[in-house]
Amino acid sequence: MAFERSEQLYQEAQDVILGGVNSPSRAYKGVGGGTPVFMKKAKGAYFWDEDGNHYIDYLAAYGPIITGHAHPHITKAIQEAAEDGVLYGTPTVHENTFAGMLREAIPSLERVRFVNSGTEAVMTTIRVARAYTGRDKIIKFAGCYHGHSDLVLVAAGSGPSTTGNPDSAGVTESIAKEVITVPFNDSEAFKEALDYWGDDIAGVLVEPIVGNFGIVEPKPGFLEAVNDLAHEAGALVIYDEVITAFRFMYGGAQNLLGVEPDLTALGKIIGGGLPIGAYGGKRAIMEEVSPLGPAYQAGTMAGNPASIKAGIACLEVLKEPNVYENLDQLGEQLEAGIRNAADKHNIPVTVNRLKGALTIYFDIDEVSNYEDAENSNGEMFAYFFKEMLKRGVNLAPSKYEAWFLTTAHTKEDVRKTSEIVDKVFSNWNN
Ligand code: PLP
Repeated sequence: MAFERSEQLYQEAQDVILGGVNSPSRAYKGVGGGTPVFMKKAKGAYFWDEDGNHYIDYLAAYGPIITGHAHPHITKAIQEAAEDGVLYGTPTVHENTFAGMLREAIPSLERVRFVNSGTEAVMTTIRVARAYTGRDKIIKFAGCYHGHSDLVLVAAGSGPSTTGNPDSAGVTESIAKEVITVPFNDSEAFKEALDYWGDDIAGVLVEPIVGNFGIVEPKPGFLEAVNDLAHEAGALVIYDEVITAFRFMYGGAQNLLGVEPDLTALGKIIGGGLPIGAYGGKRAIMEEVSPLGPAYQAGTMAGNPASIKAGIACLEVLKEPNVYENLDQLGEQLEAGIRNAADKHNIPVTVNRLKGALTIYFDIDEVSNYEDAENSNGEMFAYFFKEMLKRGVNLAPSKYEAWFLTTAHTKEDVRKTSEIVDKVFSNWNN
């Protein structure tokens, strides 16, 4: 495969776009650098790049594209939205319809607000939790990504009784002091943090099923303990379902796991590929938000008809029979393909899969928290990523990300992908 045009475009990009990309992970930093491929067209499960190369795509735009690229039903909704005007600055009936659909799917969303990104959604849930409880601090879990607002760009301190450190230049020490970070799946550490900080904690922010150090499920009882202990301490529980909502079933991870938070942040899939975020929760808590309450949140683009109509169309596709069963079957086939190839060629991998999403970790036996994921072999992943790309399989460029199956992938796509994995493993480092 030649990448000459991508190389040229990347050079040109760096002259005008800071770093050549509009989101840092696209620069392949997570796989030791290189030229990011400039994609030209996407349809179904496939990409075509500017050099004319063809790929099977498992990035799915970091999650949102669960129905495959340019799904006809969603495309039609976006076209109709364009005809009718994409931005009104007034309420529309479509917002009512969509909010109703979300609440029907995720009953804890007694009241909903639409925003424009997952970052905004999470950021606002924290504000709401602070407004409701009158407290300042939050607890979050190491390695979970919650967008790029200041409070969630705080790295762990040295234990549950210490506050965090800025994880980005520009995040102040005073903000970092509001955040306590504990390991995922560690109820003891969580309890210790609450025992120490209890009366100060406004909210506990958690990805109920982690998507940001790969796919990591909560251990039995972990989320129940988070709920019980947080509530005992008077803190709210906030689920960041930006990746998980509608990923594993028609509804949230909270439906799948049977544990209900007070507030939920949504994004990605619910926009059908257009920019969106949403947050919601118990009515009494949401009533803190303006115009009813004193916690301010607004947005020129919030609830815009294009994103809302694309979101409705996406959920309509996902509501069709057997969607999630098929994604699970494809996931099972892909996992088996990867495991067989790894066994055959003695490549040490661990595959964490839940239904249509999986992560391959190299050189580690089990991944149940961020430290495990950090300890997986990044060099092996980087090599694997680049060899797969050269053979026409587009993955997320980081050992911490997931592969996402879509409704557009076929068994044949997965068979071909497994064959390519086998080739890469058979030529390992040759
Ligand atoms: N929360 C989670 C769990 C995410 O994975 C992401 C993005 O990857 C975000 C929040 C931020 O969403 P956005 O990129 O739409 O701002």
